[in-house]
Amino acid sequence: MSEFDLIDQYFKHAATLRDDVKLDIGDDCALLAPPPGKQLAVSTDTLISGVHFPENTSAYDIGYKSLAVNLSDIAAMGAQPAWVSLAISLPAADQSWVKAFMQGFGCLLDRYNVSLIGGDTTRGSLSITVNIIGFVDTEKSLKRNQAKPGDIICVTGTIGDARLGLEAILNNYPINPDIQYCIDRLNQPSPAIEAGMLLPQYSQCAIDLSDGLLADLQHICTASDCGARLNLEAIPLSNALRSYYSDKPAWDLILNAGDDYELCFTCSKNNIETLRDDFANNDLAVSCIGEITTGNEIECYLNDTLLKLAPEKGYDHFAK
Ligand code: ADP
Ligand code: MG
Repeated sequence: MSEFDLIDQYFKHAATLRDDVKLDIGDDCALLAPPPGKQLAVSTDTLISGVHFPENTSAYDIGYKSLAVNLSDIAAMGAQPAWVSLAISLPAADQSWVKAFMQGFGCLLDRYNVSLIGGDTTRGSLSITVNIIGFVDTEKSLKRNQAKPGDIICVTGTIGDARLGLEAILNNYPINPDIQYCIDRLNQPSPAIEAGMLLPQYSQCAIDLSDGLLADLQHICTASDCGARLNLEAIPLSNALRSYYSDKPAWDLILNAGDDYELCFTCSKNNIETLRDDFANNDLAVSCIGEITTGNEIECYLNDTLLKLAPEKGYDHFAK
């Protein structure tokens, strides 16, 4: 199969085209018509085999995850996803691999009404780069530098599942339903798009959790020049994780667990009750896990006892 056959057969009609795509795959550029009065939220993430997913990950899951992590960045800005481009480097023109990859990728294109509007297809070691564009109301985006002392710190969903999933894959843990749940969370993260789109009414500050709660919350604290107090007993853990740790959670692992792709955000005390009601009415899980402080570090309390827990450095691709 040639590069052009692959493009025609698998990438060209991956999803129904949105009306705001005026020219799609096949020309030198796509032509897009952004809605008036909105800002564009733009982000790029690359996934490399063996770094961002274990080498034995299925093509479907790689496709799913490479779009999910990009959607997660859009969610963290409070934006609505619209368009993506896909630059993919493949060792060979393996049709069944590309087909399964695009089934995973396409599943999220359809779910969030996102159009694949272009890309690039090359030969090389397996690497996927997605560029995503979404819309957000002017002055309504969620920025890392907007946390204020006294704000409540919240997270969506549950924390730490993907790390246990990765540990299980790398160490060949026997599969049981709890372990399988965590592996699924690693391979098919759920981008918090619905939560992200509710947030701008109540919040100005969010980040998505890719490196671990402590490392990512530290980004908020640094950008906002503040500290944080976390109440560990309030951190949401899945039933799978609770049963794995038999009710003695390994906090150092959980707080440094990457790949959750939940949102961490702040909310003023005035808005927190309405936010909780709105999330509950939309069947979205949210937990209040602490408070922004005037300090300059993150303090972790377990039932009011201060624990010594420091952020591991977030993953650094150039660390020695
Ligand atoms: P050019 O030589 O102008 O860069 P290409 O031959 O690379 O064009 O690509 C032809 C068309 O196919 C372009 O519209 C490009 O955006 C699209 N395309 C190439 N690879 C992909 C891909 N993996 N996913 C989506 N669109 C792609
Ligand atoms: Mg090209």
